[in-house]
Amino acid sequence: MEDPREALGEALAAAADTLRHHRALGLTEVALHRPEPPDSAVALAEQERALQGCTLCKLCQSRKTIVFGSGNPTAKLVVIGEGPGEEEDKQGKPFVGRAGQLLTKMLAAVKFDRERDCYICNVVKCHPERNRNPEPDEVAACNPFLLAQLDALQPAVILALGNFAAQTLLGTKDGITKLRGRSYFYRDIVLVPTFHPAFLLRNPGDQYKRMAWDDLKLARREWERLTTGTT
Ligand code: URA
Repeated sequence: MEDPREALGEALAAAADTLRHHRALGLTEVALHRPEPPDSAVALAEQERALQGCTLCKLCQSRKTIVFGSGNPTAKLVVIGEGPGEEEDKQGKPFVGRAGQLLTKMLAAVKFDRERDCYICNVVKCHPERNRNPEPDEVAACNPFLLAQLDALQPAVILALGNFAAQTLLGTKDGITKLRGRSYFYRDIVLVPTFHPAFLLRNPGDQYKRMAWDDLKLARREWERLTTGTT
């Protein structure tokens, strides 16, 4: 049997050789733990790249661009709408039309900066013509992409905008007026449903504005509770 002291000496000499070799290559530090897994920005960029040219549902026939999502990949608040509108289809970014401008203001009213604090996406990534609701086969085809996005983002809170997003994520037929006003769980993520900004633009009365304001404050409280440990 090999002398253990000799074996240890050989192993140390080999390690020293390796370190000398690394130093000769210009490396001055040795990593003592595994590198971090790819961060959320890298994962999202990879998902967006993989989605290009998608033909998994019929929305591909009329869309101009795939509207994957935008915002801060490390944000703990993810805002989810229904599907890109016409303007979003042109620009390739979610919520950039009139409803998007209102959304930006709604978020700012509870001190969320859209770019800094949020990541924004939709249940389906391609524009349904004439803004019709996405159909079940379209939602099913796109669902793995939304799930992968949420896996990468690991948000603390989801703000679900409007009937369609709230019903799809919560798996219910209840309308937004019934669903809103409280929080739910979507998998292990707190979900706060509220009115879609396009609905608020069509119904400008104080009644809905006040309810949306309450929902936004609830989302803010949940976000603070989960990200800073305060209520
Ligand atoms: N409405 C949505 O639901 N999503 C958008 O991106 C734009 C408008």
